[in-house]
Amino acid sequence: MKFHDMPYQRVEYDAYRADFEQALETLAKAGSADAQLDAAKALFKLRDTLITMSSLCFIRHTINTEDAFYTAENDYYDETNPKFEELNNRFYKALDGSPFRTELEKVLGPLLFTNIDIALRSFDEKIIGGMAEENRLSSQYQKLIASAQIAFDGKTLNLSQLGAYLVSPDRAVRKAAAEKRSAFFLAHIKELDDIFDQLVQVRDKQAKALGFPNHTPLGYLRMTRNSYTREQVEAFRGLVRDEIVPIAAELRQKQKERLGVSDLYFYDEALEFKGGNPTPQGTPEEIFENGRKMYRELSAETGEFFDFLLQNELFDALGRKGKAAGGYCTDLPDFRSPFVFANFNGTSNDIVVLTHEAGHAFQGYLSRDNFPPEYRAPTYEACEIHSMSMEFFTWPWMELFFGKDADRYRYMHLGSALLFLPYGCAVDEFQHIVYDNPGLTPNERREEWLKLEQVYLPGTAYDGDKFFGIGGRWQRQAHIYERPFYYIDYCLAQTCALEFWALMQKDRQAAWQKYLALCKLGGKDTFTGLLAQVGLKTPFDPACLKTVAASAKAFIDGFDESKLR
Ligand code: ZN
Repeated sequence: MKFHDMPYQRVEYDAYRADFEQALETLAKAGSADAQLDAAKALFKLRDTLITMSSLCFIRHTINTEDAFYTAENDYYDETNPKFEELNNRFYKALDGSPFRTELEKVLGPLLFTNIDIALRSFDEKIIGGMAEENRLSSQYQKLIASAQIAFDGKTLNLSQLGAYLVSPDRAVRKAAAEKRSAFFLAHIKELDDIFDQLVQVRDKQAKALGFPNHTPLGYLRMTRNSYTREQVEAFRGLVRDEIVPIAAELRQKQKERLGVSDLYFYDEALEFKGGNPTPQGTPEEIFENGRKMYRELSAETGEFFDFLLQNELFDALGRKGKAAGGYCTDLPDFRSPFVFANFNGTSNDIVVLTHEAGHAFQGYLSRDNFPPEYRAPTYEACEIHSMSMEFFTWPWMELFFGKDADRYRYMHLGSALLFLPYGCAVDEFQHIVYDNPGLTPNERREEWLKLEQVYLPGTAYDGDKFFGIGGRWQRQAHIYERPFYYIDYCLAQTCALEFWALMQKDRQAAWQKYLALCKLGGKDTFTGLLAQVGLKTPFDPACLKTVAASAKAFIDGFDESKLR
């Protein structure tokens, strides 16, 4: 069905609850596993309609934020969602305590029950107040960051607009923009510290109310960590220090030489090439057309997928008045369709959307019929493999977008993937320190961050910057405020994407077949279980990062430097 023909109807809470409770009662009274399964299917169906309608509403609201109808509908779901979630929790409790659990597990799979157990262990009615407080503080942080109004270059800019100046080939411009950014953070340092203090305290309190020693184990459960431990994550960070930090240092050294500066400062890091970073050619419409060509040539499956998106108006890419900022991918289960939202603006971000978000959507498309619905998508570290790997699988088509700059783009893309890993691990280790030691003062936290920079980002030089130079860099990382322990997911996924990349260098077809298999599995297994099923090493296996590091180093060292000048 075409997107504009999809009928929308509000899911009224009272009616939904009545239907839901009736099905729950049928489930409770059922005298056999089969009868319970029928009731469960009715509940899955109700939930799918709720997801479909709230997503449809969210999409239409973001496509035109000036549409009063969908704005009001969207507010309704924002307010009512906790109540819908509470109903689902009751469903999970009923499945968990079922007298037919063994039979149910045979049909629904043990993973669903593992994840239900995790969901139930990390929630109790007594922490609802704490959760609401967390949401309030997170929004306060978002609002503070969004409130930035920085006078620069004769304009008033927000932080992301100011970011464009940090890749200026003119060093004086980069430096001035960085100073403005620091001035904003420094002016709000007290508020940033207060919000974070309160977040740490409210998270610690919830964890203790649930019987955990501190927030760290609860944070793991909230991220549905069902196949690896804190110790394995710690060991993974050690591998990044050993294998990737030296390559990152080499990349920075080469960058410094290319830029021709005697010291590579923080404000130089985003600029890869002296004349400027590669930007895509052509209008947003042309970029979009080239995307279609690329996916048709990449494989039969991606061609079919992308045509499906286009025929059904499921890829809203062009910017227009009233459209919300950013990009995302979501699902409309009742219409068996993914949806990609974006704002093409002629920067390299367009290519990220075309490859990264489309990678998420491709997986959603391939596993849209997985059952139970929980298996349509895996945990986050596995989800990001689909998207980050698609960024690499599309490399051969980069000439379509960057012309003669395609090699520069590929070099920059691989480099940024590698440089990301040490930073991501620093963020992760920092959060362990913070939640294991909830009594740290703001200054002590900044000191801890600086120590981690010495380990993971040695050589970072701030040129006397008064905010980032005193250990404030983590305070602009939204995840640290909003989603504790999420960050390592990107590192684990990036490692797997690099594993795909290394395999592509040797046997592209084999790599693609593994990728297809992984996308089709969706959420049918845990992170490590999925990797095992498709024959990939997990990032916790030391051989994984060693292979990645060796391939990456060979690529970088063998790269024709004259192409980069
Ligand atoms: Zn993503």
